[in-house]
Amino acid sequence: MRNIDHYIGGGAFVSGARHHDVFDPNNGGVQAQVRLGSRADLEKAVAAAEAALPGWAATNPQRRARVMFNFKALVEQNMEDLALLLASEHGKVVADARGDVQRGLEVIEFACGIPHALKGEYTQGAGPGIDVYSMRQPLGVVAGITPFNFPAMIPMWMFGVAIACGNAFILKPSERDPSVPVRLAELMKEAGLPDGILQVVHGDKEMVDAILDHEAIKAISFVGSSDIAEYIYSRGTANGKRVQAFGGAKNHGIVMPDADLDMVVNDLAGAAFGSAGERCMALPVVVPVGDKTANALREKLVPAIEALRVGVSTDAEAHYGPVVTAAHKARIEQYIQMCQDEGGELVVDGRGFTLQGHEEGFFIGPTFFDHVKPSFRSYQEEIFGPVLQMVRADSFEEAVRLPSDHQYGNGVAIFTRNGHAAREFAARVNVGMVGINVPIPVPVAYHTFGGWKRSGFGDIDQHGPEGVRFWTKVKKVTQRWPDGSVTGENAFVIPTMG
Ligand code: NAD
Repeated sequence: MRNIDHYIGGGAFVSGARHHDVFDPNNGGVQAQVRLGSRADLEKAVAAAEAALPGWAATNPQRRARVMFNFKALVEQNMEDLALLLASEHGKVVADARGDVQRGLEVIEFACGIPHALKGEYTQGAGPGIDVYSMRQPLGVVAGITPFNFPAMIPMWMFGVAIACGNAFILKPSERDPSVPVRLAELMKEAGLPDGILQVVHGDKEMVDAILDHEAIKAISFVGSSDIAEYIYSRGTANGKRVQAFGGAKNHGIVMPDADLDMVVNDLAGAAFGSAGERCMALPVVVPVGDKTANALREKLVPAIEALRVGVSTDAEAHYGPVVTAAHKARIEQYIQMCQDEGGELVVDGRGFTLQGHEEGFFIGPTFFDHVKPSFRSYQEEIFGPVLQMVRADSFEEAVRLPSDHQYGNGVAIFTRNGHAAREFAARVNVGMVGINVPIPVPVAYHTFGGWKRSGFGDIDQHGPEGVRFWTKVKKVTQRWPDGSVTGENAFVIPTMG
């Protein structure tokens, strides 16, 4: 059985007896075991980080950027291996796994421009002979705690910017698919990163609590489910750390009567069911405005959903693969039952789906409910599976209200041909990221990413300029150089040649 070890001080670190099974969701078997670390393991990583930090923080930003350029090239060379490894632990199809790596690399590309992003501000003559300037300095040893659903992209969102800014980064990836994060750390070393600047510690709550309580760790970025995000935010900030903690989601797609329904159906197939719905920016709720729109959409949507192909990760024709674990599959099926019990009309039922030759795989067929009501618990909570719920709205006002009143506020989309409606919607809806005829409105890497309400705790968003703000502190310098008021041998003289 393959063991997945911590990556500390530039190499594998073997310690401890506790471990967690890593499955192959395509066939349900255990393919590896990842070590679950303790405070003692974290101490090793912190010590290595502290030893490496002064040299890295003092390395000029252009040289730090060169490591990022090298890393980008290495990841591109290793793209196929990374995608296959990722797909084998997560279950997403290989094309999606490549996308996972690629979207992370886009943040690395942003990090390649760090010399520009770190430039401070300067005011000459803020007072008589006085100049004021600011500089962005790294925080020190920092940490990231990441979810299972983007095991390449989300670690790169965090460590790409943090390390380029001059910090030493300790990553605690999901214990469900931990291999790709370790490969990324190895590639960073190959790219020229000094040992100790990027390390990976594995674990569960014990390791997370050790990170939250460690006095040497100055900032924590977390992405995962909302209850854990809130916990990380409260405990981390109570311990005096800077914390950003991104949580779950229940994104709505509003369909106005004038929308292009063929486009909506095509977009929903990808956004609701792609990656088996295990995306925080998936679109698991569709809100047609008016019964006429709802009926017309349903007529086109049902055959499209029934035509989706579910297959193993390596099936190039498959639309999506298995979900991550048997436990997650059971949870999704419970939500399907709950929605039916609450009175939702189960139009397409994905339970009981099996794939010939892969009967033990964690597969769920696409599932579609109509006539879902905002009072349903299955609507109020995140399902995180290939389940689409249709909530019919009577008016534009109701369509703005539904996502605005929901506990989550990650993303939302509106489909319309009416610029005024779209503009009003974008301005008024109480959600962090808005798509206009764009089903998955993830901003590009040089903008920033972050949801509102229970989808995001903390004030500073992820990557882009906000990422630079998060991973640095600003020093403000006010300087005065007296010009001739000092006489005698201490007099200030402008040096001249000769
Ligand atoms: P999760 O909350 O179970 O795990 C996230 C991390 O927290 C993991 O590293 C895990 O080991 C750790 N963790 C789990 N339980 C813990 C506990 N009790 N105490 C301390 N740490 C604990 O999330 P997941 O299932 O891996 O990922 C899916 C969730 O992440 C979904 O809710 C999804 O919406 C969310 N997500 C959000 C975003 C976003 O940007 N808002 C992006 C991706 C995923």
